[in-house]
Amino acid sequence: DRTESQMLIIFGASGDLTARKLIPALFHLYCGGYLPENFLILGVSRSEFSDEEFRRKVIFESSYLEGDLKEKGRETGEKFAQKLYYHDLGASYEASYVALARKIESLDEKHQTGNNFIFYLSTPPNIYEVIAKNLSEQGLTHKDKGWKRLIVEKPFGYDLASAKKLNNSLHQYFHEDQIFRIDHYLGKETVQNLLVTRFANSIFEPLWNRNYIQHIEITNAESVGVEKRGGYYDGAGAMRDMFQNHLLQIVSLVVMEPPISAEAESIRNEKVKALKSLRILKDEKSLSENIIRGQYLAAEIDGKKVKGYREEDGVNPDSTTETFVAIKFFVDNWRWKDVPFYVRTAKRMPTKVTEVVIHFKPPHHKIFTESGMFNKDNKLIIRIQPDEGILIKFGVKVPGQGFKVERANLDFYYDSLIENNLMAAYERLLLDAMQGDATLYARADEVEAAWEFVDPILQYWSTSKDATIYGYSAGVWGPQNADDLIEGENTWRNPGSN
Ligand code: NAP
Repeated sequence: DRTESQMLIIFGASGDLTARKLIPALFHLYCGGYLPENFLILGVSRSEFSDEEFRRKVIFESSYLEGDLKEKGRETGEKFAQKLYYHDLGASYEASYVALARKIESLDEKHQTGNNFIFYLSTPPNIYEVIAKNLSEQGLTHKDKGWKRLIVEKPFGYDLASAKKLNNSLHQYFHEDQIFRIDHYLGKETVQNLLVTRFANSIFEPLWNRNYIQHIEITNAESVGVEKRGGYYDGAGAMRDMFQNHLLQIVSLVVMEPPISAEAESIRNEKVKALKSLRILKDEKSLSENIIRGQYLAAEIDGKKVKGYREEDGVNPDSTTETFVAIKFFVDNWRWKDVPFYVRTAKRMPTKVTEVVIHFKPPHHKIFTESGMFNKDNKLIIRIQPDEGILIKFGVKVPGQGFKVERANLDFYYDSLIENNLMAAYERLLLDAMQGDATLYARADEVEAAWEFVDPILQYWSTSKDATIYGYSAGVWGPQNADDLIEGENTWRNPGSN
């Protein structure tokens, strides 16, 4: 695909995300030859930097680019640095946007970026609207000459009402087709591969329904705690930080009907339909019976003491913010009627893993009854991270007399396809936005549909006295009663243990 001449204007350029993800992603795209000849990055925030100081901060003195610079050489870094500029908004607001507009216009003219601008909002979310408004007032959002796009970082809203408000505000200044809402999970190869596994093969889709699937399990486990982000996390929790966005995105790709084409709107239409078919847990009984939330407690892991959540820096000592959530829900449509979905996300788990597990129903009539028989269900495991890949678990005959059946694995690892590392999520997403492809970005109605599901749960937790939060020792698979969510004799698949 052709990437046109353009300028990327990053708001929040002095911040962590710019240094840690955006500039490294852009440097990789530069080294890979993906950036157009006429391309500029203009960093914007309130801190004072000259262009040179900004280049030093995010390239030559950045720990995130140290390894890359060693590999590619200082000269490559210098050439890339020539594409970076900085503008400080200073204290006086209105005048600063006038000055910003002038700077953008003169850079555009000098470097022939074709009046094509991407504005990337990587600031605190409460100023997304202010920035959009000011850009509009300065005439920088008009599409008369060149195109204009807006990339919006997460979180997109704090609840349903704030997400709707943000959508409405942004729509005053940008058309929906100009807005790219980031969910970096969609930038992951293995998440995109869910679409390919399902819709480029004929062997999975016929089984992908209530007739053959017993239940579906999705786990996102992190072994770390909140680290230095206690203050932010305590105001968010697992539900807002992971479930509303990343996990519901994965759910929508698993649940969706086949799109009519691979066009952005076809895929996003089906994802919205999928999210809208989730049965919302709203009465007190279903909210209390189908959701387990927890908080990690202090423990010793590998001989090292780790703090409990409430002792972490920046966390309220009486906090009821969840670091673990497990939810059972159903999908009310023809394909998924009565198939339970179990989704959990947590911090301080025994390992770091994100995976989707499709549990198939056992054979209707079992003829191999010898002891030692493979009596577990067939599973298709899609490993999102780490060790990206796909695993099928099925029964094979144990060599020798009789019909003893054992479990065998058929596996595929992404590693085998690639020479270097997988393209990082931010590289893929930035490149897509630069090419105007919104397939891997969330649409307004999609974000709102996800909030529709999550909102009653957050409200229940904040208002009901009976909404229990369970403790679990750091380093275990969450509160014990999370196992009781799963119907029948099934248990969570805890990678490494079953
Ligand atoms: P951060 O380190 O606190 O940076 C925020 C940036 O916004 C700073 O550059 C700050 O610089 C700038 N800023 C603040 N007020 C501003 C204003 N009025 N006008 C222009 N710039 C302003 O935050 P971050 O971690 O980079 O995160 C940025 C965004 O990405 C947030 O929305 C966050 O939720 C999201 N995000 C971050 C991560 C991550 O891993 N860090 C992951 C996912 C999403 P000045 O003070 O110099 O203006």
